[in-house]
Amino acid sequence: MYNRSCQLYEEACALLPGGVNSPVRACKNVDSIPLFIARAYAGHLVDADGNDYIDFVLSWGPMLLGHTDPSVTGALAAALARGTSYGAPCPAEIELAREIVAAMPGVEMVRMVNSGTEATMSALRLARGVTGRDKVIKFVGCYHGHADSFLAAAGSGVATLSIPGTPGVPRAVVEDTLLAPYNDLDAVTELFSRHGENIAAIIVEPVAANMGLVLPLPGFLEGLRKLCDEYRALLIFDEVITGFRLDYGSAQQRFNIDPDLVTMGKIIGGGLPVGAFGGKKRFMEHIAPAGDIYQAGTLSGNPLAMAAGVATLRKLKNCDYTALEKRTADFAKSLADILRGKGVDVQMPTIASMFSPFFCSTPVANFAEAQKSDQKIFASFYKQMRMRGIYLAPSGFETGMTSFAHTDEDFARALEAASSLDFGK
Ligand SMILES: *Cc1c(COP(=O)(O)O)cnc(C)c1O
Repeated sequence: MYNRSCQLYEEACALLPGGVNSPVRACKNVDSIPLFIARAYAGHLVDADGNDYIDFVLSWGPMLLGHTDPSVTGALAAALARGTSYGAPCPAEIELAREIVAAMPGVEMVRMVNSGTEATMSALRLARGVTGRDKVIKFVGCYHGHADSFLAAAGSGVATLSIPGTPGVPRAVVEDTLLAPYNDLDAVTELFSRHGENIAAIIVEPVAANMGLVLPLPGFLEGLRKLCDEYRALLIFDEVITGFRLDYGSAQQRFNIDPDLVTMGKIIGGGLPVGAFGGKKRFMEHIAPAGDIYQAGTLSGNPLAMAAGVATLRKLKNCDYTALEKRTADFAKSLADILRGKGVDVQMPTIASMFSPFFCSTPVANFAEAQKSDQKIFASFYKQMRMRGIYLAPSGFETGMTSFAHTDEDFARALEAASSLDFGK
């Protein structure tokens, strides 16, 4: 079934560390080989052996419209004919910035970058620059890309591979990263009372989606806003996943919280390598060349990436988020019922177009609780679903994604696959 992927994986391992260009893709902790993808369409992937899968990873979030959406590929084809990179301003940068500013209530100005990692790294520099302070609060199990400051108790691949700290990150850098459990306002209050005058910012995923899916408890985000106001620190919403996924206005609109800075990526690039950070003009105007905080990029504002982003956001504006949320919730509930029927404990949090199974008996509000999820059962679930044509994230610390291109038949097929699983219970 996986002959060609096996062969490609072997070739890749000789040329790329671990055979991949991003760790979780290697499928190591689910005891599988990675599938090499030949093409994608709508809510589906096709691997190099010709197997067709219903895709619940969606490139880890960007493909909310599904793959090969004609409005996006059409805009890309038109942009391609005009050249691939100019290293100079182009009209599409303004168009994408305008769409973002119109959609996100907390964003007045934007700087385009090339990945989510660059966005969070640069937003932190800006927060440090404008406050003159060095420390940042991050939450255990939240992932903000792979910049040094954020590689303390991080989620996503760091959690998946159980890498404790990361060699190569200077101790002095992570000493400025203060950690608190997600949803724990008391712990944050305690950090402020001890280090308040040195804290530049809190960075938070408004819905945590890199330790599996963990929703903010009522009052948590409001509490962070209040503490930041009290200690004159900046509140950074990392909306790299939630931006344009939780709602067209993103998490900041859905939860009605006004962050100072917002980081973006994934969906805003429509599948091309894009990130952005934005926020209040009074902070953003400190970025060079308007101000003196340096940030730059050879390919930033790339015309192809901007065209894909603009086409994606313009189409999303007219999509029915409420309907997709309901379809996703119905799917997640049915999936949980089926799994429970097989004798396994499961928690299945869901919001907007995201869901994630935790194989444990109690609800999950932070990373310690997420770690109670039985990873052996997860691996078995993953492998059996993949064999049945259902493509899930190969880690119990990632989040399932649905798209506007998923059909009722796709959901029904995924549930049918789940019905035939066997956990030996
Ligand atoms: C994916 C992600 C990032 C990093 O984005 P890259 O484009 O992979 O560098 C940062 N923050 C969050 C919340 C993410 O999910």
